[in-house]
Amino acid sequence: MNDSAQFARLQQIDFDHVWHPFTQQKVWQSIEPLIIERGEGVELIDVQGRRYLDGVSSLWCNVHGHSVPELIAPLQQQAAQLCHSTLLGLSHRPILELTERLMPLVPKCLNRAFYADSGSTAVEAALRIALEYWQKQDSPAAKKKTEIISLEGAYHGDTLGAVGVGYQESFHSSLKNLVRPALRVPPPHIYRFYQNLAPELALEKSITELKLLLSKRSAEIAVLIIEPMVQGAAGIWVQPKEYLAAAAELCRNHNVLLIADEVATGFGKTGRMFAVDHAAVQPDILVLGKGLSAGYLPISAAVCSEKIFRGFIGEPAELKTFFYGQTFAGNPLAARVAAANLDLFAANKVMDSLPAKITHLHQELQRLIAPLPHVDEIRSCGLMIGIELCKTPGKRQAYELNEQAGQRIVIEARKRGAIVRPLGNVMVLMPALAMECEQLSTLVEITAEAIQAALG
Ligand code: PMP
Repeated sequence: MNDSAQFARLQQIDFDHVWHPFTQQKVWQSIEPLIIERGEGVELIDVQGRRYLDGVSSLWCNVHGHSVPELIAPLQQQAAQLCHSTLLGLSHRPILELTERLMPLVPKCLNRAFYADSGSTAVEAALRIALEYWQKQDSPAAKKKTEIISLEGAYHGDTLGAVGVGYQESFHSSLKNLVRPALRVPPPHIYRFYQNLAPELALEKSITELKLLLSKRSAEIAVLIIEPMVQGAAGIWVQPKEYLAAAAELCRNHNVLLIADEVATGFGKTGRMFAVDHAAVQPDILVLGKGLSAGYLPISAAVCSEKIFRGFIGEPAELKTFFYGQTFAGNPLAARVAAANLDLFAANKVMDSLPAKITHLHQELQRLIAPLPHVDEIRSCGLMIGIELCKTPGKRQAYELNEQAGQRIVIEARKRGAIVRPLGNVMVLMPALAMECEQLSTLVEITAEAIQAALG
């Protein structure tokens, strides 16, 4: 079979039998699919040999680049030794070696890792741990704490519990009355962007809202879950670090637990190892995924404080056990590559390399993208970038869904050799930490050209 016959065969299988996540198949099947075969460094290579800069780090998870020998070699060794064994009632060496490396990195109040297999299942674990923590106590007052607070626009994953705390109109409108909703508070972005308030006022109002809710209802509230510093899937809504610090303090003062969902922000994406580090916040539970394995294999964790863990200790008949766990939770292959990931962070001094790259990236965005007529604003925290588009220059007006503004930019960027992905009216860039300044410039140049080609 020649190359084009091979491609046609693969395309046929895709179009006939594969259902892609978060993808309108009608649009997908109207254009030639991009079928990836290999990854090298920060590039992805398709089955026809074309190379693309991976502008969104393979859905926000890749850290050191693709096919990095220091990650592949341990993975191959591990594959030859043990591909899977359960953590239910057993342990294994790779998970212990990962845990040994992880503990010194997380906020010091945390010392117990509960492993899972995706961001969503770790969020689900964290929520269950937080809710059950109160239920497993003897005091009737503790048992009354059953509510969860989350931020408007939050996204915490796709399992139903995570959807309940992370409701987004465009993703979840058909589930509106079918999941148990959280109590929602507006983050500063809502006031600043949608109500045009000055940043300080937006911050103050959002803190006041949270304070009000907690002072009225903390007796019923078990936990607040937050994407610290950046609400990624909302469209890179950035919070001032003062909001995070205030939310953590309010939770502490009102006896409400705090879950920091760092599935997206963790492992350097915001410029610090964890986003909570920007405000020296000590959460009760830290949720990790994506970058934990450098984006190589599925593994995640809900890392808890000793206080939380102690709530689940008792005689078997007391039923304090945490009855939760996936088949592949803490899989040895994924754990081994995750341990190698953390070794590579140290060996390559990755965190030290970030400030210069981040400054460069932000300068390039200001130079090439900010002046474009259909760009409303650029939001950024570290390597997490959101480019808000506007239909009419100078006016805060989003494109209609059917106009497919983001999708048109994606196609133009692809023609020019970069993979990017929109979130509604926002183009997202989220390069791997390994992307060098020159490649960052190319990514921004291509994105600027693509926006112009698609929107004028
Ligand atoms: N939490 C946050 C903050 C996320 O951004 C995501 C995914 N983008 C998730 C949870 C869910 O992770 P996963 O897709 O691995 O289930």
